[in-house]
Amino acid sequence: MTTIIPIPAFRDNYIWAVRNGANAAVVDPGDAAPVLAWLDANGVHLSAIIATHHHADHVGGVAELRSTYDVPVFGPAREAIPRRTHALSEGDRIEVPGVGLACALLDIPGHTAGHIAYYTTGDDPLLFCGDTLFAAGCGRIFEGTPEQMWSSLSKLAALPAATRVYCGHEYTLANLAFAQAVEPGNDDVRARIARERVKRDRNVPTLPSTIGDELATNPFLRAGLPGVMAAASAHAKRPLASVVDSFATLRQMMRDVQIAGGKIEVRQFTTPTDIVALPESLVFNCTGLGSRNLFGDQELQPVRGQLAILEPQPEVRYAALGNFGYMFPRADGILLGGTFERGIWDATPQPLDISRIVALQKQFFEGFRCTA
Ligand code: ZN
Ligand code: FE
Repeated sequence: MTTIIPIPAFRDNYIWAVRNGANAAVVDPGDAAPVLAWLDANGVHLSAIIATHHHADHVGGVAELRSTYDVPVFGPAREAIPRRTHALSEGDRIEVPGVGLACALLDIPGHTAGHIAYYTTGDDPLLFCGDTLFAAGCGRIFEGTPEQMWSSLSKLAALPAATRVYCGHEYTLANLAFAQAVEPGNDDVRARIARERVKRDRNVPTLPSTIGDELATNPFLRAGLPGVMAAASAHAKRPLASVVDSFATLRQMMRDVQIAGGKIEVRQFTTPTDIVALPESLVFNCTGLGSRNLFGDQELQPVRGQLAILEPQPEVRYAALGNFGYMFPRADGILLGGTFERGIWDATPQPLDISRIVALQKQFFEGFRCTA
């Protein structure tokens, strides 16, 4: 009988112990100390080390564990994994020594270039997917493209709905807040938030989830559904060309919040008292122009600026600023702007101003053409 036990590490990592009797294999041991302590406390012998990708918070403990236990180290063929003994890629199958677990392998590049997933089939299928698929979220795209990440997530989404998902981090509640911002009407998201919150309040992991849960609530797996695409399109302020475009936009939306060190929570403020009741000591730009109504702040001065957003062009890695306005590239599109009008409350887009911005940009960049 195999059981899977979480060994918490660092701030929000899980090292998964696959235990069968007196033996256990560990998945993604970023730190040796908690693993050694767990083995010791439970009288368990380490039988194998399994790695999904090369990040230090997943393999940082491998060398030290290996110096105590001479066990096989399974890891991705296309990444540098310390002390790796078995280099794996899609199509391979392994029998994890000591615990009787037969796994098949998938290549799931995107978070890292050689990231792999381990999954089992049969009655009680399970999946170890590192930092690619999270509960209600997905990993950052460090070494790949949105296309690769989308295709990797699609492989995982195609596993049986009952597959238990063991991922590398406890990010579930923050991810679900984002999921709710994307799909405010999704009842499964609402129910899952209530369910997972109870677990976190008791300091219990929200994991494993299941592929079925993810299909119902994970906005990144749902990027191709009309409602989710509409939300991504509204954020990007342009029609979306494809599912990958929708996925990339969602990932950028989430990244914008994370870059700012934030988490997403959806709340509505109808009176100033609602704001005073916030636990946060600093409230930054919380209501924008809504402040006039909310606070009765008649001194508030609106500044209107028009933006034009071009299709994403990953090869554009520069920004420009000048009399013609400004442009800077983002993963979800190239931002053009440059108008500045004080005192206008009307938020209707101004097509004439927008075409002027685009025309000035065009003129500026055409100036670079070599006519010789
Ligand atoms: Zn990682
Ligand atoms: Fe990680």
